[in-house]
Amino acid sequence: MFEAITQNLTEALGNMARGKLSESNIRDGMAQVRHALLEADVNYDVAKDFCDRVTEEAVGEQVLKSLKPGEQIVGIVYRELVNLMGPVDHSIELRRGEMTVLMMCGLQGSGKTTTCGKLAKMLKEEGAKPMLVAADLQRPAAIEQLKVIGEQIGVPVYAEPADRSSPVKVCQNGRKEANRQGCNILILDTAGRLHVDDALMKELIEIDNRLMPHQALLVCDAMTGQDAVNSAKSFNEALELDGVILTKLDGDTRGGAALSVKAVTGVPIKYIGVGEQLDRLEQFHPDRMAQRILG
Ligand code: GDP
Repeated sequence: MFEAITQNLTEALGNMARGKLSESNIRDGMAQVRHALLEADVNYDVAKDFCDRVTEEAVGEQVLKSLKPGEQIVGIVYRELVNLMGPVDHSIELRRGEMTVLMMCGLQGSGKTTTCGKLAKMLKEEGAKPMLVAADLQRPAAIEQLKVIGEQIGVPVYAEPADRSSPVKVCQNGRKEANRQGCNILILDTAGRLHVDDALMKELIEIDNRLMPHQALLVCDAMTGQDAVNSAKSFNEALELDGVILTKLDGDTRGGAALSVKAVTGVPIKYIGVGEQLDRLEQFHPDRMAQRILG
């Protein structure tokens, strides 16, 4: 994870740590940091603002006069990375006495169906009684895939034949069935598309209006960098997202999506997917992520 960005940042910060530091060394070094961030596919404005903030702090008298200014700058970069990705927010509160509804959205291939299963498994282990609803009637294999996942983790899956139902209907019937079975959390696996389009957003907005989910969570493929961030922006404009789950961080060498998505959309990253297996879901901790990025 993050091999490429870690290497480039380490080089840039290492250059600043050597020798005596002057304001112009710092500015040169920070230009290199900015280059490393852009190479990692961090959003342009985010990278610029980040480097401006670090530079402003780093050229302060206290840093330049300190015994180890290089180390101080690494500390500033670390703190600003944590700020950029934070604050910590992985809350999924269960509603007392009513069904908690989570609407999971995302583009096709982002890992949405797998993540529904991972989340259900995690919530079940925490003592909740989840039910999965197969509301992705677009991708032919999605219903079967969700049923297989449900069986693996011992969580019931509500599904209807794709050609004789509608996404809203399947969600509403799913809620009734979840009530009947005494479940307390409903996870809606909604449809994806290859790209954000009007038909997809219309479908999701309809589910959002009719089911009134307590949280709308977007599943994004971290490996797609700025594309993931741009799609998060579109989804958020249509649905007012409560959180992002970034998947495939195990294969992401650059970190651009992880570093930009909160700053660009204002939506917190709640969880990260770090592998294909159903137990490979972790709570997102900005401080640990910043440590990993700095190597
Ligand atoms: P959907 O079309 O968004 O529902 O995507 P799927 O859930 O079918 O996932 C697409 C592919 O991504 C599958 O091969 C998953 O195993 C894989 N995948 C999902 N999450 C992760 C993850 O965190 N890490 C890795 N390496 N693969 C993942």
